[in-house]
Amino acid sequence: MLLICPKCETKNFLDPYPFWNFKGTTKCAGCNAIWRIQTSSGVSLAKPEEASGTADLLPGFAERQDYSAISGPGLTRPAPRARKDAVCKPIPIKRNVRGKIIAGYPLKKEDLVGSKAKFMVAGAS
Ligand SMILES: [Zn+2]
Repeated sequence: MLLICPKCETKNFLDPYPFWNFKGTTKCAGCNAIWRIQTSSGVSLAKPEEASGTADLLPGFAERQDYSAISGPGLTRPAPRARKDAVCKPIPIKRNVRGKIIAGYPLKKEDLVGSKAKFMVAGAS
């Protein structure tokens, strides 16, 4: 998804995964203006409204009118990284008394509370 800033016309690229069903604020990486946006199933429901405060979620990448890139801390979100404790291992992990990994177990309903996967399935409502 794309948020073209009405003030400075910077193209802010909003990652589809976190912004799929989203209601909140994001920040233009070009002019630091805060915009209130609402999306449902990846579709914008209204024009961006100017807001104040801090951004709930930053764009993944941004581009000026001359196609030069804007990125960096405070302007765009860092790329998602794998959890250090879970690379090539089952999540969640069961450990024995010595701390060695013995098994993983399937996710239970309460493990999914607040997770992005459940958030996407549940929709915007
Ligand atoms: Zn802007």
